[in-house]
Amino acid sequence: MSEPTFLPFTRPSIDERTIAEVGEVLRSGWITTGPKCQALEAALTERWGRPVRLANSGTATLELALRLAGIGPGDEVITTPLSWVATANVVLAVGATPVFVDADAATRNIDLSRIEAAITPRTRALIPVDLAGLPVDRDRLNALAGKHRLRVVEDAAQSFGSQWKGRAIGSFGDLVSFSFHANKNFTSAEGGCLVLNDAEEARAFEKLRLQGVERFPDGSLEVEAWGAKCNMTDVAAAIGLGQLRGIEDANARRHQLARRYFERWDRSLGFELPPEDLENHGNWHMFQPLLPPDLATRRGDFLAAMKARGIGVGVHYPAMHLFALFRRMGHAPGDFPVAEDVGARTLTLPLFPAMSDADVDRVCATSSAVVAELRGRTA
Ligand SMILES: *Cc1c(COP(=O)(O)O)cnc(C)c1O
Repeated sequence: MSEPTFLPFTRPSIDERTIAEVGEVLRSGWITTGPKCQALEAALTERWGRPVRLANSGTATLELALRLAGIGPGDEVITTPLSWVATANVVLAVGATPVFVDADAATRNIDLSRIEAAITPRTRALIPVDLAGLPVDRDRLNALAGKHRLRVVEDAAQSFGSQWKGRAIGSFGDLVSFSFHANKNFTSAEGGCLVLNDAEEARAFEKLRLQGVERFPDGSLEVEAWGAKCNMTDVAAAIGLGQLRGIEDANARRHQLARRYFERWDRSLGFELPPEDLENHGNWHMFQPLLPPDLATRRGDFLAAMKARGIGVGVHYPAMHLFALFRRMGHAPGDFPVAEDVGARTLTLPLFPAMSDADVDRVCATSSAVVAELRGRTA
């Protein structure tokens, strides 16, 4: 019997037709922003029924969303410490201050009941994050934002295809940012998009993403204000158009795989499994059990033992306020105990559409064997 091949925690699904279409773009002589970007913007605008504009990363769309909302020095932006560091880095990028609010132990998303206590006269916006694709409660969130007159920049980087009460994330709300990074449910290798409120905001975003330039029909240009350089390429957009054909099937397959994890995982091991409401979970961007408390300090050993047995396990994410950057701003262990606990014990098991049911079974069986080993018994 041959050794099973290495199973990474994620892998993008790119079909042969998409590869051929990327080849066509490369042969066409027009490889940066062009007709493929236009087509992808149109398709996403149609999908969510609101104006959508592309950029070259989900970090860029978040940062430009904050700029569009006029957020800058002296302003505070409330977000969760349990996210990819991009979520807070963009707040720093515009000169504002990230204000963290602890996570909720059940959802692992921002604890909505603690937001009001963090609001000050300087608070201008909320950045909710749908961790692992599980949507933040949009009813409570938008009610809070309305009551305190705050802008909302949804960091929906992980929730392409997720729904809140039957409505697609992206189809409602204020500004909604998606990432198309290679590891996300929907990818263009690198890229992202922002869903905006109206045509005027969309035009302002177009200027912000490309040097502040406005073009007129007679060929003349004007630059009224600074703009970034973060337009998407047609090479990337061609990948995105290919993904759009397969996204419903891909997300449905993720649901099946998550269901199998719940069926096959040995619950006597003592891991805390992710919220199990399969219908409302969202898009199963990641499947993340938390290590049992007795193994909380053995995560490195668990990762190494799994890797030695051919299985890639990720960590998404340690609580970011404990990074040196944020400690220098005054944060310390104990500030956000829920986020710290989840961040210390979280594991990302393999979950991607091309996986087989047998792959899930192998991850479950191998995890059980590794846990037995770590606890000093033979399986
Ligand atoms: C991936 C991700 C981002 C950043 O997206 P990029 O496209 O990598 O710039 C931001 N926030 C969250 C929650 C993410 O998962």
